[in-house]
Amino acid sequence: AEFLGDAADYPRWVRVNALKTTVEDQLATTFADFTRVLSVKEVTASPTKSLHVDDHIPNLLAVSPSFQITKTEAYTSGALILQDKASCFPAYLLDPRSEDGDVIDSCAAPGNKTTHLAAIVHSRVPENEECSQTVYAFEKDSKRSRTLEKMVKIAGAKDITRMSFGQDFLRVDPNSGLFKNVGCLLLDPSCSGSGILGRDDMPTIHLPEAPDAAKKQPATSNRKRKREGPDAAAEKPQPILVDDDGKETVVSSEKELKARLEALSSFQLILLLHAFKFPAAKKITYSTCSIHAEENEHVVLKALQSDIARERGWRILPRDQQVRGLRDWPVRGSVDASGGDADIAEACIRSYQDDGRGVMGFFVAGFVRDARPDFEDG
Ligand code: SAM
Repeated sequence: AEFLGDAADYPRWVRVNALKTTVEDQLATTFADFTRVLSVKEVTASPTKSLHVDDHIPNLLAVSPSFQITKTEAYTSGALILQDKASCFPAYLLDPRSEDGDVIDSCAAPGNKTTHLAAIVHSRVPENEECSQTVYAFEKDSKRSRTLEKMVKIAGAKDITRMSFGQDFLRVDPNSGLFKNVGCLLLDPSCSGSGILGRDDMPTIHLPEAPDAAKKQPATSNRKRKREGPDAAAEKPQPILVDDDGKETVVSSEKELKARLEALSSFQLILLLHAFKFPAAKKITYSTCSIHAEENEHVVLKALQSDIARERGWRILPRDQQVRGLRDWPVRGSVDASGGDADIAEACIRSYQDDGRGVMGFFVAGFVRDARPDFEDG
């Protein structure tokens, strides 16, 4: 893969919100004077006003980064949502269908994936019929809950979504009658944020220790390069973690980073195992915007080896059973980090911000089970 090192190499990813509009409508209105091109590279190479309809994710556009989309009526009305391509993977992979029942977004704010789930659910409701599914959105942090509320409202997802503000997912009782029809859960917990692009859409993370990434050229901060001149890029970069609010913290030693990753991955595993307990659940996605195996393949392996997974028949969603766009996505998990299991590695979906595809660093895996056993005791 070609190294991408400049902000100009990242398009603006725009999700067309199916709750409010269609790709066809947007191509005919907001983007009427845009040229449609055949690849993301062509979008970033052309100076202005070009777009590419994404090959993997439905209703996703790659748009010229210079386009002031936030000034458009379609954006302010919630018809268009700025959302990185990789951040669209989990809801699309979860693929909630009417027969799957209700859906939980366990860690919801600011609501990109909640509104994406609602749009997918809505798109499958036959005309003149009422939607029978509910998307439950939980968010522990009350301040971030307010952002979630605003986003759900502006996206037109209020009728489908039931939000619980300040709700810790771990305190949600899987055996409550309210959740007896929950067939799908999306888990997108807090993580190190090591795959996140900077707020000005530039790569800011310097963590070359990604699985199988030893051969790759580490991403180098454009911001830092600009600030300190070309020689600074040659220095060993300091690892930076980005929290849920986008605040960057420099981790001053490998030991500190390791401790932080250990704490995060224990919490992520607990959350995933809690999701396994929902009695009617048949599908789960687990995702992070981290490039670290500790938070990704390692969590998946531990979850698969857990007693609850064995008892309830949870297994990984293999690549050949994934929705078409993600089956076709070429960047997969690390075999080493998956304990040498090539099938698990293939089932894991990854992206790296420097892999030439114009997306942030990300990880997602799906879990499935067939039966719906009755677990009276939870
Ligand atoms: N899914 C969101 C989106 O796409 O817009 C981003 C989620 S962000 C990575 C993780 C969120 O989980 C944060 O808002 C954090 O406050 C919330 N969170 C962390 N622990 C939680 C818990 N135990 N229960 C519910 N929410 C939690």
